[in-house]
Amino acid sequence: MTLELAPNWTADTPQARAAELAKLIGGAYPDAHGRFGPFGGRFVPETLMPAITRLEEVARHALTDPAFLDELGVHQREWVGRPTPLARAEGLSRLWDADVWLKREDLAHTGAHKINNALGQALLARRLGVKRIIAETGAGQHGVATAAACARLGFPCRVYMGAIDAERQAPNVFRMKTLGAEVVPVTSGDQTLRAAIDEALRDWVSDPRGTHYLLGSAVGPHPFPWLVRTFQSVIGREARQQMLDRAARLPDAAFACVGGGSNAIGFFHAFLGDPRVALIGAEAGGHGPAPGQHSATMAHGRPGVLHGCYSMLIQDAHGQVGDTHSISAGLDYPGVGPEHAFLRAIGRVSYAPVTDADALAALRDVCRVEGILPALEPSHALAAAKAHARAHPGSTLLINLCGRGDKDMPILMKHLT
Ligand SMILES: *Cc1c(COP(=O)(O)O)cnc(C)c1O
Repeated sequence: MTLELAPNWTADTPQARAAELAKLIGGAYPDAHGRFGPFGGRFVPETLMPAITRLEEVARHALTDPAFLDELGVHQREWVGRPTPLARAEGLSRLWDADVWLKREDLAHTGAHKINNALGQALLARRLGVKRIIAETGAGQHGVATAAACARLGFPCRVYMGAIDAERQAPNVFRMKTLGAEVVPVTSGDQTLRAAIDEALRDWVSDPRGTHYLLGSAVGPHPFPWLVRTFQSVIGREARQQMLDRAARLPDAAFACVGGGSNAIGFFHAFLGDPRVALIGAEAGGHGPAPGQHSATMAHGRPGVLHGCYSMLIQDAHGQVGDTHSISAGLDYPGVGPEHAFLRAIGRVSYAPVTDADALAALRDVCRVEGILPALEPSHALAAAKAHARAHPGSTLLINLCGRGDKDMPILMKHLT
């Protein structure tokens, strides 16, 4: 694959790339068209352009307005529970023969990082002056976070969810309804997350002025990948400072799981300009590399357009979106955020598929020696760190533990007995 990278991209060593990235991050990154190198952009119906441009304008203004940032800070502290702790994992350090640190994003309100983005966008919706908020959800975590943020800020909330997912994730459907949201099961298409996003986009097209579409990951048309990353980047900013305070050093390597890529990009972003910190994204390797058996977009995908954005995408021989599988619903998505596709293309972040079995084994380790039940998604990042420790004993590893495993009980009851 040959790629047309950013026009002035001259760096050819990892150090030089990191230095150029650090410059880019302070400037026009993504560019005015929402492109990260060749990836990103906005492939949407004309009718959505006014809403999308307005969202970008309002967001850019709010994110430099001290009053907005103060208000966001108060909600983050008093409601989300930020800053989330950084913890030295004594048990894992002994077990894996490494110096292991966990960013405890699982302790955030509603149990995962999703609340950072839901809260930020719901606050923006006030400034947009919309009357209602819509969202999509796969496993239900983003739907729950959005329902909670809408309840707190006084917005009516409608969540689109594939009919198959709604049945598989009945407790989360009930949680959303209890928090006051309307849940709409989607019976078209594949009846899972992909169809739910299509349906949410359709709703948004029908009333772009009165509605905000609160997208749940660092995917979709510009400005979403940038906007979601911005609200999630609090994770990496905190973790980097906490490492310096607690360990007086940065990690040798930092790990996060990648579904659409929001927790990973929010975690990695603060470290992009640190050339000595290796950044590793763990994708869902599922049952293995055969088509339909995994959701490892970087390992097995090709560039293409999905949900308004040009990025890496799992496709079949005819260029149709391919079937996916993962034991973790949150990683079971055929696309990935465009910034990740760019960071991989320039060699700043590497991506590794982790099988269902390896993720489960890592989850077991963390339960037994840390007394923490992680979600299945970050168990992929934990497994990637475990493999890294085997190859590089004694290294300092930082893992974004992006969610708790309570939601995964039914699946774990099937697999861990
Ligand atoms: C939704 C979810 C993910 C996947 O989404 P990203 O946008 O890739 O972060 C990962 N972990 C947890 C706990 C989730 O709820």
